[in-house]
This record gives sequence, C-alpha cells and structure tokens, in this order.
Amino acid sequence: MSKTLFEKIIDREIPAGFVHEDELCVAIKDVNPQAPMHVLVIPRKPMPRLCDAVPEDQALLGHLLMVANKVAADAGYGEAYRVVINNGAGSGQTVFHLHLHVVGGRPLKWPPG
Ligand code: AMP
Repeated sequence: MSKTLFEKIIDREIPAGFVHEDELCVAIKDVNPQAPMHVLVIPRKPMPRLCDAVPEDQALLGHLLMVANKVAADAGYGEAYRVVINNGAGSGQTVFHLHLHVVGGRPLKWPPG
C-alpha cells in the first residue's frame, strides 16, 4: 500500500516544521495555517479516520490529546486553543491519516463553520 502524506512526512521524505516527536506521534506546523498557531498532531500509526480506531487505540488517542496540550502550552497558547478532528470527507477531512488540528492565537468563534 502506498504511504499517506503524513507517513512520508514522518519518514522525512517530505519536509515539515516539526514541533514535537515521540515514539507514538509527531506534531508539525500546518502548511496552510488558519491561525497564528496551527499544529497537526499525527500518530505514527496510520489510522485513516478517528472512526477507524479500535479499543487498542485508546491509550494512543489519550496520548495525542496530551501532546496537543503540550504543543499549545509550548506555543504560549495553553489557556485558549481548539482541538479539531475532521472525520471523513463530509467533515472536511482531506488527508486520510488521523490528525488533530491544534489551533490558537486568535479569537475562535463557535459554532465552527
Ligand atoms: P484535514 O483537511 O482535516 O484532513 O487536514 C489536513 C491538513 O493538512 C490541512 O490543514 C492542510 O493544510 C495540511 N497539510 C497538507 N499538506 C501538508 C504538508 N505537506 N505539511 C503540513 N501540513 C499539510
């Protein structure tokens, strides 16, 4: 099977702005930022969508949220940021390798578009 875009980034075949890396995931700057901070937290395991998660992924999913916390705090936005997961094409997902958008640094409206 061909690699996802994010697998290629994880394997350093495509350049990206890494802000975090550990044994389970990486975090990179989004190439098309929607706010002053826009980081993607990406598991090394190439799960296409959140709805493809299985019970064994529970700890990994919790870890991704803790990394989102860390990257937001490291960027100076730990008190006001948003975590978004687009699940499926109908929600706006374009890269089918699970990722968390961590967005902050400007007022964020609710409900989102
Ligand atoms: P989604 O639409 O939820 O699947 O989000 C995919 C995100 O990946 C978008 O916000 C894109 O801007 C971002 N993206 C696409 N290609 C790259 C890349 N090469 N490096 C960093 N971010 C990317």
